[in-house]
Amino acid sequence: MEMQGQRLVLVPCPYQGHINPMLQLGTFLHSKGFSITIVHTQFNSPSPSNHPEFTFIPIPDGLTVPLVSSGNIVAILLAINANCKSSFEQCLTTQVMEQEPEKKITCIIYDEFMYFSAAAANHLNIPSIILRTTSAANFLARSTVIELHSKGHIPFPESVSLDPVPQLHLLRFKDLPISTFDTLENFLRVVVNSHDVRRSSAIVCNTTVCLDQSSLAQIQEHCQVPIFCVGPLHKLNTAAPISSLLEEDTSCIEWLDKQSHKSVIYVSLGSVASIGEKELAEMTWGLANSKQPFLWVIRPGSINGSDWIELLPQEFREAIGERGFIVKWAPQREVLAHGAVGAFWTHCGWNSTLERISEGVPMICKPCFGDQKVHARHVSEVWRLGIELGDVFERGEIERAVRKVLVDNDGEEIRVRAKDMKEKIQVSMSSGGSTYNFLNKLVELIIRF
Ligand code: UDP
Repeated sequence: MEMQGQRLVLVPCPYQGHINPMLQLGTFLHSKGFSITIVHTQFNSPSPSNHPEFTFIPIPDGLTVPLVSSGNIVAILLAINANCKSSFEQCLTTQVMEQEPEKKITCIIYDEFMYFSAAAANHLNIPSIILRTTSAANFLARSTVIELHSKGHIPFPESVSLDPVPQLHLLRFKDLPISTFDTLENFLRVVVNSHDVRRSSAIVCNTTVCLDQSSLAQIQEHCQVPIFCVGPLHKLNTAAPISSLLEEDTSCIEWLDKQSHKSVIYVSLGSVASIGEKELAEMTWGLANSKQPFLWVIRPGSINGSDWIELLPQEFREAIGERGFIVKWAPQREVLAHGAVGAFWTHCGWNSTLERISEGVPMICKPCFGDQKVHARHVSEVWRLGIELGDVFERGEIERAVRKVLVDNDGEEIRVRAKDMKEKIQVSMSSGGSTYNFLNKLVELIIRF
C-alpha cells in the first residue's frame, strides 16, 4: 500500500490527559500502516514498553526540579515551548538526514500545547497537524476568553460571575476556562499560541459531532483549516495498552466483581486536580451517608496537606467497612466499562468525561479548574447527563446527588439520556458515522502529503 512507507512524528504534551489521546491516535494510524515515532519530553515521559510498535525519542526539555515540583502547568508549558524549540528541530533534522527514502517523515502531529513543533515542521518543510485533546465547547470558551480580554472584560468582577457569557451556550462567567496556576498574561500567552493554526494543515479533535455540534459550527466559521472530529479516541482500539504515569491498582476490579449491577459510584479527580480538607470531609460523609458502594481514586498528594489518606477520619473508615474501596490509581477504562459501576463522580477532565459518556453512565461533576468547569456545565445543562455540585455544599447535597444518579426515581431521565448518548456515539463510530468518516478523511489527507 502507498502509505506503508510513511512515517509520522507525534509530539504529545507531557500530561496524562494529553498523552493518552495522542498514543491512541498513534495506535489507530499505526493500524492503518503508518510507522509512528513519538518525540517526547524527559518530563513525564511515556513508557515505551507499552508500545513496542512505536519508536520513542526523548528530547531535552530543560525543566528544573523546582519548576516541575511547583505544579504550575502554565509556567511548565511556557518553559517547554521555549526550551524544546531547538532540541526538537535538531532531533527532526537528524531524523530527516538519516531517514531511508522509503520511510520518509511525511507529517508531524503535535498537541496544541506543544506549539514549538510548528516552527521546526515549517522550517523543514514537513506538513503538520494539531491534535486538540479537549472539547470543541472548551476551545470556543477559550477563544471567547481571548476576545473578552481584548475588550477589557477579563478579569471580570465578582458581580458578573453568575451572568451568562454572550454567545456561549449556557456558560456563566465563572465557568470560563481561565487558569489560576499563573498570571493571566502567561495563561493567555499559552492559549493564544495554541490557537494559532496558521502554520498547520488541519486540526484533529478528540470529540464527536453528536456532542459538540453547535460549538463546532461556530469554530468552523472562523477556522482557516479543516477540522476532523475523530473522538472518542479511546474507543478506537479498546485493547491497546494505556501509558499510565502511575501504577494501576487492578485489585479494584476484583472488588467490583463482588458488587451488584450498576450499584457503585466511581470517584476520581484525574491526574492533576487536588482538594482541600473541608471538601474532603464533605465528600467523605456524603459518600458514607449515601449508603451506596463506592470506588474512590485518591492519588498520592491529591489531598492538600497530606501524602495520601492520612486525613480520612477513622470513624469514616469504620463506617464504610467493605462498602468503599480506595486505590491510588485505577485502570479507569476497565472500571468505567464494568457492569457494577452505575455512576461517576468526576472532576470533568475531558478524557474522563468522554470515557464516561461513551459508557452511558451518568455523572456527578465537581470541577476544579480550567476546562473542567466548561465540561461540568455542559454535562449538567447542555447534554444533561449528570449533576454539577456547587462550590459550597449544603448538608445532604452529596448523598442526595449520589442517590439521584444511581438509584432514585428523579434521576431516571438522566440515566436514560446517558444511555441514548452512548448509542449515538456508537453510531458515529460505525461504518458511515461521523467519526468513522473523519478518520478515513484524515488518513486520506496524510497519504496525500
Ligand atoms: N485515569 C486513570 N486512572 C485513574 C484516574 C484517571 O487511568 O485512577 C486516566 C483517565 O482514564 C483519563 C486520564 O487519566 O484518561 C485523565 O485525563 P482527564 O482529561 O480526565 O483529566 P486530567 O488528568 O487531565 O485532569
